[in-house]
Formats: sequence, structure tokens, C-alpha cells
Amino acid sequence: MAKCDACGLREAKIHLSIEDDQLSLCNDCYNEYMAGELEVELEELLESFSLKDSEGVVRTFLVETRLYPIGIFMEAKENIEFGYTFAVHGELEDEQQQLLNRLIEKTKKGIKEKYIESKVFLSGQPYESLIKDHFAGRIEYDEFAEGLPLIIIDGRAYTWEEVGRLIMSYEGFQIKVKMYDQTD
Ligand SMILES: [Zn+2]
Repeated sequence: MAKCDACGLREAKIHLSIEDDQLSLCNDCYNEYMAGELEVELEELLESFSLKDSEGVVRTFLVETRLYPIGIFMEAKENIEFGYTFAVHGELEDEQQQLLNRLIEKTKKGIKEKYIESKVFLSGQPYESLIKDHFAGRIEYDEFAEGLPLIIIDGRAYTWEEVGRLIMSYEGFQIKVKMYDQTD
């Protein structure tokens, strides 16, 4: 991973073009730069929080805030690979603590809702099925499946094939697919 051009310490995550310069910055240095440009002060807020999901499992989220000219983006990312991710978007002049509260509320609600349950056939073979007739998830890149996505549901990764199998019990039904921005 490339290091940040400004501090040389943390991983560079954001690439900026400033006049003719290309800069790769870590989140902190990027925010510092944008705070100066936008004249917005980023408050010191909670960096992580833990909540129990619908099954009582404690899930820990890392909070990342990013300043953009169009507003503040705040994301809670679970500390495991392909875990839950929730995000909110606010105006630059919004109260940042309130934005964080909104993010925590959204996370709390999001992890209470479970879409898939594990069951066992009479033969003893386990299978998974949808609890209600719908699910929501996040599309991620699957490095092992050429051009096919991974879908993160209930904070767990499902391959495109697994999602296919999951909905095969609805053969003959209609399906509706709609995309939403992460902050919706
Ligand atoms: Zn840096």
C-alpha cells in the first residue's frame, strides 16, 4: 500500500489533483487539507463504537469522516473483512456530533434487521433462506469471480451464485432490484 505523501505514515487512500500536482493522501491529511480549503473545523469525535446485532453478537465499527466540498461523509465500517458498512451524509455546516448520532442510529437499525436465516433440511443438510421475501445488501468486488459481484447481506459475504440459490425458492415470482447510494 502506498503511503501518504504528506505525513508518510498512514496508508494513502485519496488521490487529489491540486493544480498540476497529484497528491495521494491519508484520510487525516486529506481532511486537514479540505478543512483549510472549506474553512470547516472537523471535531474530535468517537473513533469506534460497538453494538449488538439481532443475535446478540457484538459488532465493532470504525468511524471515518471525510470532508467534501458538497458536505460531510461519515462512515461506520465493521472491523472485519466484508462486514457491515453504514454511511450518512450531512451539510458542511451541520452539527458533526448529530451526524455521528445519526450514523450510530442507522447502524443500530441496520444490524437489527436480519434477512437470511440458516435452516436444516429433514435430511440434515443445512441451507439458507430469506426470512421475509426481500433482502438488502451491499455490492462488493469479488476477486475470485470474473466480473461477478459479492453481495454483503447481514454483515456477511455471499457470492453471486449463493444469492442465486437463495432466491431459487421463488421461481416464477417477480423480482424488483433497485440501487441506492450508501448514504440513502
Ligand atoms: Zn497523511
